[in-house]
Amino acid sequence: MKINIIGGGPAGLYFAILMKKADAAHQIKIYERNGPDDTFGWGVVFSGKTLANLRAADDVSHAEITKQFEAWDNVDVVHRDAKISIHGNSFSGIARLQLLKILQRRAEQLGVEIDFRSEIQDVESLRNDCDLLLAADGVNSTVRSRYAEQFDPELDVRANRYIWYGTHQLFHGLTLTFRENSAGVFAAHSYKFNPTTSTFIVECDPETWSKAGFDEMGSEETLDYVGEVFAQDLDGHKLLSNNSKWINFLLVKNRRWFFENVVLLGDALHTAHFSIGSGTKLAMEDAIALAESFQRSTNVSEALTHFEKTRRPVIEDYQAAAFESMRWFENAGQYMNLSPIELAYVLMTRSGRVSYEDLQRRAPAFIVEYESNRG
Ligand SMILES: Cc1cc2nc3c(=O)[nH]c(=O)nc-3n(C[C@H](O)[C@H](O)[C@H](O)COP(=O)(O)OP(=O)(O)OC[C@H]3O[C@@H](n4cnc5c(N)ncnc54)[C@H](O)[C@@H]3O)c2cc1C
Repeated sequence: MKINIIGGGPAGLYFAILMKKADAAHQIKIYERNGPDDTFGWGVVFSGKTLANLRAADDVSHAEITKQFEAWDNVDVVHRDAKISIHGNSFSGIARLQLLKILQRRAEQLGVEIDFRSEIQDVESLRNDCDLLLAADGVNSTVRSRYAEQFDPELDVRANRYIWYGTHQLFHGLTLTFRENSAGVFAAHSYKFNPTTSTFIVECDPETWSKAGFDEMGSEETLDYVGEVFAQDLDGHKLLSNNSKWINFLLVKNRRWFFENVVLLGDALHTAHFSIGSGTKLAMEDAIALAESFQRSTNVSEALTHFEKTRRPVIEDYQAAAFESMRWFENAGQYMNLSPIELAYVLMTRSGRVSYEDLQRRAPAFIVEYESNRG
């Protein structure tokens, strides 16, 4: 089969690896607009369950990924200077750049051709030249816009603003920190992803953003302002920018996932709010599901039909949980009157996926503390 892939992010690279592994005769070419070392973002997180899926799909890249991992089992909630730790949540973090390098190496070893610094505008020519065109070109997918009539995307720009920073302050565990100033409430999502660096994502609602005056600030001033809001948590460490900018979260859904020989994958197909740390995980698990569909049938139409039929319910379920989580953070201001332990409890149960009983089993010490504070 001849497969053209637009986008060398986790979705495109991982699908190429799995297809080439399944049949070395496939001719696979990835077109990636960036160079091999250019990337945005800091760390990415995976749950224990995702790691098991990655091991089953390709143990070689799994071994490389887990060698570089930072693992933890706690979520920490910081509110009014108190830190509440909730254990029993197994997660691991890795630098996005490291992950991409591992996947690029593995793909090239298997014989996948990667054409770096190659930005595709003429999607139709590429599609006519292959059996399968995979659109793994990210949240602002060119392919999705080019064939908007066929995919019928639903794009929802959310009101909250967020910005991805890094820092050398180490957050051992997924740490959710809330700070207030005269402008409003700021929430930080942070975690360590290598021995020296943490991801530090800051989010606020549009009123807070305007009152803080970010529309008038340059990058340095923004970085200093946000650093000041979280000064206590950063403990003297600076925030690190990687061309970091305020963005509005874009919620992506598509009413149709494929047509003829074109299929969307990863962020091009769907997004889930970063508060449940799942963009990279979903992109790679999409790749597993699509590659499995081609194991069942080499007929493109049959394989794509099977992919959408089996994967859509999983994604819809995930997006529903992520939506609840996103809404919680959009309304974070209304929870600030809660005590730290109460806030931690509502946060842990916000997506509707974790119940009191789950917490009792996974984090009994936390539930005992919660109950004793409730009187
Ligand atoms: C600014 C920003 C920072 C992020 N940082 C993090 C983070 O630190 N941690 C985390 O977990 N998640 C992060 N995410 C989310 C995460 O990147 C995605 O959920 C995940 O990478 C999805 O994988 P993907 O392969 O579908 O898309 P992407 O990783 O976005 O990959 C798409 C690829 O397609 C390429 N491309 C796009 N258009 C074209 C074209 N026309 N021609 C050729 N190539 C093209 C892009 O250069 C890119 O490499 C971030 C997202 C954004 C927008």
